[in-house]
Amino acid sequence: VGKVVVLAGGVGGARFSLGVRAAFAPGASDGAATVTVVGNVGDDITLYGLRICPDLDTLLYTLGGGIDPEQGWGRDNEVFSVRAELAAYGETGWFTLGDRDIATHLLRTSWLASGLTLSEVTARLARRWRPGVRLVPASDQPVETHVELADGREVHFQEWWVRAHAAIPARRFRFHGAEAAQPAPAVLPALAEADLVLIAPSNPVVSVGAILAVPGIAAALHTTPAPVIGVSPIIGGAPVRGMADACLQAENVPTSAEAVARRYGCRREGGLLDGWLVDLRDRAAAEVLAKEGYRAAAVPLLMHDLDATTGMVRAAAALGATVRG
Ligand code: GDP
Ligand code: CA
Repeated sequence: VGKVVVLAGGVGGARFSLGVRAAFAPGASDGAATVTVVGNVGDDITLYGLRICPDLDTLLYTLGGGIDPEQGWGRDNEVFSVRAELAAYGETGWFTLGDRDIATHLLRTSWLASGLTLSEVTARLARRWRPGVRLVPASDQPVETHVELADGREVHFQEWWVRAHAAIPARRFRFHGAEAAQPAPAVLPALAEADLVLIAPSNPVVSVGAILAVPGIAAALHTTPAPVIGVSPIIGGAPVRGMADACLQAENVPTSAEAVARRYGCRREGGLLDGWLVDLRDRAAAEVLAKEGYRAAAVPLLMHDLDATTGMVRAAAALGATVRG
């Protein structure tokens, strides 16, 4: 394996990427590989004129050692004087804006205004964070996830997720700007040249789904010569953390490791996946999926530390090797 591509959302995608970086580091048992992480931009939002890319920032901070370890998102040792000042003006926002995080948003916003693309901006931010992987946005154009609620209103994904805690039933998700968007320049070449493609255990609907909504990316996954292996974010019928079940519900997809695999689809049948990893608890799902043409394996899928996560990545690579062989 020389080139690995990962499709990633925020917290789940970033933790998984730590394992990918470790599994393919120089001297690792699977051999060294260059890793490209394609990050979701569907969560991106403009607040107070600041361009905020939550998933790209979570990837940068996690891989760069600057993440808040308890939350899994945001800067460590964050301070909130801007939030307090805003509150004094009566602005009690629902979106957390910490001072240290705001520095990132200020730079991104001004670099974008000066004409740099989001790919270029992300590369510049990475000069500080040195994530050890090539981090690229799914698209340089804005593609924002919006949620059509059961009452017909439509809100930005962040407003539904952060403000309403996904408690209002969603009817469907729309990826605004997707039709006019293109994959960022590095994405399609990376997929075409990959030796292994990994779909992180990220939210299948609004993280990976928003990446796949960028025209051309799903087709490139379908035609890549590399095995495409996904890792289930659902264990024992529930998301490990977060509210992915509320997203799956909107699509009438059951919250199970099996159903999420079928949502991506088996590559032989026109879908995206060659292989799918489920947790040991979902062993039965692996057996069912194997009969449907997936390479499937059951291994421990809890990312409680780097060794566990690296083990998951090794299992995914091993499953990929059976596809090529
Ligand atoms: P977000 O953008 O911050 O919501 O993060 P992602 O979309 O990348 O990841 C969210 C998903 O990660 C959730 O659906 C969780 O179930 C999943 N997840 C979080 N921790 C783990 C873990 O330890 N193991 C597995 N298999 N999935 C996890
Ligand atoms: Ca996200």
